Amino acid sequence: MIDSVPDVVVVGGGVIGLSIAYFLSQRGATVTVLDQNQPGQEASWAGAGMLPPGNLPGARSASAQLRAYSHQRWRSLSQELRELTGIDNGYLESGGLEVGYAGEGDRLQAEANEWIAEGVPLEQLTAADLQRCEPALSPEIRQGYRLPGFAQVRNPRHLKALILACEMRHVRIVAGAPVMQFDTEANSTTGSRILAARTANEHFPASQFVIASGAWTGGLTRQLQVEIPVRPVRGQIVLLSAVPLPFKHIINNASRYLVPRADGRILIGATEEETGFEKRNTVEGVAALLQFAQRLVPELAQARLERTWSGLRPGSPSGNPFLSRLPRHSNGYVAAGHFRAGLQLSVATGELMAQLITTGSTDLNLEEFRIKS
Ligand SMILES: Cc1cc2nc3c(=O)[nH]c(=O)nc-3n(C[C@H](O)[C@H](O)[C@H](O)COP(=O)(O)OP(=O)(O)OC[C@H]3O[C@@H](n4cnc5c(N)ncnc54)[C@H](O)[C@@H]3O)c2cc1C
Repeated sequence: MIDSVPDVVVVGGGVIGLSIAYFLSQRGATVTVLDQNQPGQEASWAGAGMLPPGNLPGARSASAQLRAYSHQRWRSLSQELRELTGIDNGYLESGGLEVGYAGEGDRLQAEANEWIAEGVPLEQLTAADLQRCEPALSPEIRQGYRLPGFAQVRNPRHLKALILACEMRHVRIVAGAPVMQFDTEANSTTGSRILAARTANEHFPASQFVIASGAWTGGLTRQLQVEIPVRPVRGQIVLLSAVPLPFKHIINNASRYLVPRADGRILIGATEEETGFEKRNTVEGVAALLQFAQRLVPELAQARLERTWSGLRPGSPSGNPFLSRLPRHSNGYVAAGHFRAGLQLSVATGELMAQLITTGSTDLNLEEFRIKS
C-alpha cells in the first residue's frame, strides 16, 4: 500500500492539508501528505483556536456559509476523533463576549446587527450585565454582546488527533519533504496534468494533487504558472497562567482577544504584522498584548507569564481562502489563504475539498473561492 501510487498527494500538513487528507480517506481515497518540516507545527499550531458560531440557513455571504458549515460540524468531528484516537482536542463551547470601551458602541451595534440578521443567537449586554457575567472585566468596559455558540479548540491537540486519525486511516504522512517543483505533462485533449510532486531527492506521483501549504502557497503555485496572492501575516501570542481562571468566556475587543483554557491558561492574541517570513516575538508586540490584557482584565497584572510565540497566517487579499481547482492543471487543487480563520474553517475546507476532488461537486457553492485564471 505504502509504495503504490496514491490517489491524492497533499502538499502541506497544517490543519488544512490534514483535514483534507482525513476527509478524503473517509471517502476511500489513498492519500500521501508531504510536509517540509514536521506536520502541524506552523500557523495551525500557533493559532488561538477560536471557533465563532454560524447559522447556515441565515448565512448571507459565501464566507458566512463556510463558517456556518464548519460550525455545525465541529462538535461531532471532535467526538469522532476522540473515539477514533483517544485524543481529546479540548473542543469547548465556552461562549464568547465582544466588548467595547467608550466610543465603540456603534461598531459593536453594527456587528451585533450582522449576527442577528444571520440568525445567530446573541444577547446584548449593558455594562452592568457584563459585570454580572464576568466580574473580572474592567469597569471601563461600557457595552457588549454575548455569543453563546462561540467555541474553542486546543489546536495543538486537534492536530495530534488529526495526524493519528489520518495514520489510522492509512494516510501516509511524510515529514521533512519540502516540495520544490512539480512534474507536468501537456495533453492536447485533457489540458496539462501534474504527474508528481518533487522534493530534492524524491518524487511523489499521484492521480490528483492539493496544494495546502499555508503562507508558502504562492511560491509553489508559481511553479504551475498560477499567481495566488497568499502572503505571510505574522501573529504574536502571549500565554499566561492564572488559577483559578478569572473569567470563563472568550473575550474579544476588536481584533484582540483573551482565550481562557480549562487548565488555567489564558492566551492573549494577537498582533497582525506584515514582516514577511520572519517568525519571532518582539518587545513591541509582546508589550502591546500585555497592556491590552491588563486594561481589559486588571487582575491579570498578577498572572504568571508562561511563554510567547508567533505564527505566519496565510493572508489573502479578501481574507477569504482560495478553495479551487487549478486553472491550468486539471488534476491540481488549492486550499490556502484562510488568514485569521483557518482553524474554524478547516472542517468545512476538509469536507468540501474532499467532495470536490472525489465527485466534482460540493454541498456549498465554492465560486466565491475559485481562482480566476
Ligand atoms: C497568532 C495566530 C492566531 C490565530 N488564531 C486563530 C483562531 O483563533 N481561529 C482560527 O480559525 N484561526 C486562527 N489563526 C489562523 C489559522 O491558524 C490559520 O489560518 C491556519 O492555521 C492555516 O492553516 P494551513 O494549514 O493553511 O497553514 P499552516 O498551518 O501554516 O500549514 C502549512 C504547512 O505547509 C507546509 N509547507 C509549506 N511549504 C511546503 C512545501 N514546499 N512542501 C511541503 N510542505 C510545505 C508547512 O511546513 C506547514 O506545515 C491564527 C493564526 C495565528 C498565527
